[in-house]
Amino acid sequence: MDATAAALLLDHYDSARRDLPWRSDSPDPYRVWLSEVMLQQTTVATVTPRFLRFVERWPTVEALAAASDEEILGEWAGLGYYARARNLIACARKVAADGGFPVTEAGLRALPGLGAYTAAAVAAIAFGQPAVPIDTNVERVIARFYGLTERSAVPAAARAFFPGARNGDVAQALMDLGATLCRPRAPACPACPLWKHCQAAASGTPEAFPAPKVRKARPHRFGIAWWVRKDDHVWLVRRAQQGLLGGMAALPGPEWQDERPSANAIAIHRHGFTHFTLDLLVVPAAEPPDGEGWWQPLQGIADAGLPTLYARAIKAALTAEREPRLAA
Ligand code: SF4
Repeated sequence: MDATAAALLLDHYDSARRDLPWRSDSPDPYRVWLSEVMLQQTTVATVTPRFLRFVERWPTVEALAAASDEEILGEWAGLGYYARARNLIACARKVAADGGFPVTEAGLRALPGLGAYTAAAVAAIAFGQPAVPIDTNVERVIARFYGLTERSAVPAAARAFFPGARNGDVAQALMDLGATLCRPRAPACPACPLWKHCQAAASGTPEAFPAPKVRKARPHRFGIAWWVRKDDHVWLVRRAQQGLLGGMAALPGPEWQDERPSANAIAIHRHGFTHFTLDLLVVPAAEPPDGEGWWQPLQGIADAGLPTLYARAIKAALTAEREPRLAA
């Protein structure tokens, strides 16, 4: 049954697989690894143009390893989850120093920033290893196929889906199925190659599998971003290497806090992080605070490598300066 389902899945993949720039019949481990790191928490549509820019600028892991932190963080700007970028840099330098990527799942897992999923994905896709990568798409397809409500039962069940040959293609076929037909809402069961064997489809309520996650309410926090202007420039700083948005360009400001500070903000930008939401109050100041920084021309603000939080806060501040009545 599972071998039959895997064969049906691979037939479908061979005729309908998504054309993605990191895919190839002879996969390049660098491109597979880079794409998997970029795709964490980020959609294929967002990643695709950014991936193409990255590999054009740094076509090999050695080229990436030789780039400066600032260049890489700047190129990463806007993709979010900046710990990924810092791990990307550390991993590229380790791989270049070692003379290439390790080929086993365990060897890959030991690299900076490679969690269980990414190590399994690179091992399966780039090296054809018997690894079983389970992202949210794969989890959903497997849970539905076997009629599992408990997500914890998925990894063991998924093993039976990987017959040994074409492991990387099975993984990518499951990822594609989850992204295209076996969607969270309104799965297109009649078009699915697994339809006749799928327990969730047979139940008549495929969306009920797996059971929905219970989401915890995110705490809310507050921050101040100093808005220091001189002519057509704004004062920027680089955040400390450790912590959220570490090493990224930013507006200066104190540590974020749980209580709303009293300050005369010209704009407030609300931003959602994975574990909390933030109100960033943009507050005018006459002079730059103590510490290092630079005057960034506002005309060249897109070249500063700002993460989305600060790019949007600056946009809100500029709008508020032009149209004070719209200010928060
Ligand atoms: S038949 Fe439906 S529920 Fe089952 S794997 Fe295919 S799309 Fe998903």
